[in-house]
Amino acid sequence: HSPYHHQLEQRLAELTGRSRALLFSTGYMANIAVLSALLGRGDSVIQDKLNHASLIDGARLSGARLRRFTHNDLDSLQRQLSNSEGRRLVAVDAVFSMDGDCAPLAQQTELCQRYNAVLMADDAHGFGVLGGDGAGSASYWGLDQERLPVLMGTLGKAVGSFGAFVAGSETLIEALIQFARPYVYTTALPPAVAAASIAALDIIAAEPQRRQALNARIKQFRQGAEALGLDLMASDTAIQPLMIGKDGDALQLSQGLEREGFLISAIRPPTVPEGTARLRITLSAAHTETDIDRLLEALARHRSGRANTDAPQ
Ligand SMILES: *Cc1c(COP(=O)(O)O)cnc(C)c1O
Repeated sequence: HSPYHHQLEQRLAELTGRSRALLFSTGYMANIAVLSALLGRGDSVIQDKLNHASLIDGARLSGARLRRFTHNDLDSLQRQLSNSEGRRLVAVDAVFSMDGDCAPLAQQTELCQRYNAVLMADDAHGFGVLGGDGAGSASYWGLDQERLPVLMGTLGKAVGSFGAFVAGSETLIEALIQFARPYVYTTALPPAVAAASIAALDIIAAEPQRRQALNARIKQFRQGAEALGLDLMASDTAIQPLMIGKDGDALQLSQGLEREGFLISAIRPPTVPEGTARLRITLSAAHTETDIDRLLEALARHRSGRANTDAPQ
């Protein structure tokens, strides 16, 4: 725990408006740490069906009973809450990694308070990009530590570094330090990596134009794709999947686009449900307006079965 780790934890707590933050070596470990430290046999963990695999693995490791609710469905969540026993923790992806849509955190918070359950959000895809200050989904929804007690974020996505953190109350962080085995029994992040994350937080604070540029590209892509009649999903974030359906079609399209210089992976089962293979388009602030126009033009061409024979191979 070097001064860089310490400073990064303080900066993360400040940015997210939490009392304290604790660093983890990866987001995968942060999620299994929280669930296995806070829950045990006789408790219940209630999760969205589309949650990231690390939350599912954390539930398994904890020994708590895992219940899953229909994606983003408040009635289904309420049914699981009223059927559950023991200590209750509800865990959701704040932004879903394969669909790009957001969890309705404000309403989920209310349900959790009504059933005396703790809400945990995995903000791997919101931290650094969402909210006016880039503090992520908690800022976007205006949820303080009381309403959203367990906030997890990663440093390897928008932040461009490596590692993860959990932010919340003094009591939460002390409990994790004492009981979270993936915190205690592994090597901490190298100090240089913590320093890189601090530098990234400086950029997030000083350069809001990057978030504005990203939002402009998202809008441009969605408007263009809609005009082409492409099968967009209900996402306002940087993750803009195009639903394709058949695995082979998605793979072929992805390979065709790669030959033209677009790195867009085909996501297939078991990562997503059967018959919902898709192209996972990930936009960034570094993309230009011209990049998006070229992508839309390529998608239109591939759809009509005309590959660009002039493109570099
Ligand atoms: C990437 C990701 C993680 C894991 O984070 P790592 O730091 O890569 O281990 C956890 N949750 C979600 C939703 C993610 O997208």
